[in-house]
Amino acid sequence: MGNPKAFLTVPRKEAGYRPVHDRIHDFGEVEQTLNTRDRQEQASRCMDCGVPFCHWACPLGNKDPEWNDALYRGEWETAYKLLKKTNPFPEFTGRICPALCEKACVLYHTTGEAVTNRENEAAIAERAFLEGYVTIEHPKRNGLRVAVVGSGPAGLAAANALNLMGYEVTVFEKNEAAGGLLRYGIPNFKLNKKIIDRRISVMEQEGVTFRFNEEFATALSTIDDSSLFTFHSSLSDYDAVVIATGTPVARDLNIPGRELKGVHLALELLSQQNRVLAGMEFSKDERITAKGKDVLVIGGGDTGSDCIGTAHRQGCKSVTQIEIMPKPPVGHNPATPWPNWPVILKTTSSHEEGCTRRWNINTLEFLGENGKLTGVKVQEIDWKPNPEGGRPIMVEKGKPEIIKADLVLLAMGFLKPEHPEYPENVFVCGDAASGASLVVRAIASGLQTAKKVNEYLSKR
Ligand SMILES: Cc1cc2nc3c(=O)[nH]c(=O)nc-3n(C[C@H](O)[C@H](O)[C@H](O)COP(=O)(O)OP(=O)(O)OC[C@H]3O[C@@H](n4cnc5c(N)ncnc54)[C@H](O)[C@@H]3O)c2cc1C
Ligand code: SF4
Repeated sequence: MGNPKAFLTVPRKEAGYRPVHDRIHDFGEVEQTLNTRDRQEQASRCMDCGVPFCHWACPLGNKDPEWNDALYRGEWETAYKLLKKTNPFPEFTGRICPALCEKACVLYHTTGEAVTNRENEAAIAERAFLEGYVTIEHPKRNGLRVAVVGSGPAGLAAANALNLMGYEVTVFEKNEAAGGLLRYGIPNFKLNKKIIDRRISVMEQEGVTFRFNEEFATALSTIDDSSLFTFHSSLSDYDAVVIATGTPVARDLNIPGRELKGVHLALELLSQQNRVLAGMEFSKDERITAKGKDVLVIGGGDTGSDCIGTAHRQGCKSVTQIEIMPKPPVGHNPATPWPNWPVILKTTSSHEEGCTRRWNINTLEFLGENGKLTGVKVQEIDWKPNPEGGRPIMVEKGKPEIIKADLVLLAMGFLKPEHPEYPENVFVCGDAASGASLVVRAIASGLQTAKKVNEYLSKR
């Protein structure tokens, strides 16, 4: 344990975000970093609890008390080695994990000031790259080949683990670069794409082969003879296949006016913006931009929040975010007691940049002129308990009203993919298996799947 009394004397200190007036004009990462002394002091607050709930809450089982202790002592390399044992990509989770561990931290429960595990994790990962603790491994090959379809965090975690076990791994990706939603969903202001490139370079040097612009989607959905190898000849070369294709279909809102110019799925905007920042060019007709527009984001979750931050940086006139469900409780929710993840109101860096937020709002119709969106008809609603149990019943409240908008972004989640019955050497992981989730869960799922593939191929 670090400093046994630090939690009594050292308050939680977050690195915080760059000031709004500074960050709003660029897509650079918004989060700042602490100096080394403050970072180590933050790590000293970890009490090494008898039952470490942080460890329990982290889907990767990260051993936060162990690496916090090493960090406190300034043993950065040891801290990285401990972190790497359970998390292959701490530079991703350290930036964008919602930090399930922190909400389960005993200090969060008792004082509301959890140990800054996520930021500590990012600091350890960055120091590891800087000081050369991230070394290139040369695993001994076992002669077996595995194909991974999809290069999001789940596919990358599975590919990385299998490669280090000695399998010859090829990742097939339909996009032009690796990362899945890390690259084409999450905005650069949360995760700079150089961080992904750096990791892909390590994986390539360690022997993983990436094949981009290779799409397997249509074939997967038509598989009907339980032989995966019939639809892509090159897959017959592989001893096992891992499917990590995420949740490609977003939930749409098929109400009158959906066809109007100016109504888009959130990812259409987010992925295009990330591609523009990567240097890709789009014609004026193709380009989706919030510049000078009144933007309405439909959906109150994280994807919606990413749309808000993107709209600000593109120079929107205004942003409103509406959500059909009620406003979550502020601060504490008795329905989700510690150490569970608290379902409470979340205010992100993008919300702080300015946004009108409304809850209990149903969307009725998109309105337009000459084929272009001009506004959205919405209505306030209420939720009444269902006497038969189950989902509450929606009831109308108040009169319909019109929100002026010339850009609508639909951020209402993703459909859970269905999969056919695959042959026994085909494994599904990440969001493709669970439905839309989190990066940390996708990584955990990729690691578990790699273990299953290894068990299967070892038996064979
Ligand atoms: C806008 C947005 C913001 C988010 N922000 C966060 C966040 O801050 N923190 C967090 O923890 N989570 C966040 N998430 C969720 C997180 O990104 C996902 O849970 C995670 O990326 C899922 O990983 P995955 O590998 O299963 O799938 P994905 O990341 O979706 O990757 C799937 C990959 O498979 C490829 N693919 C699909 N079909 C085929 C095919 N047929 N052939 C070849 N390749 C194919 C895709 O192109 C893609 O590269 C966010 C999600 C979105 C949409
Ligand atoms: S991956 Fe997320 S939940 Fe796990 S220790 Fe890191 S910040 Fe916490």
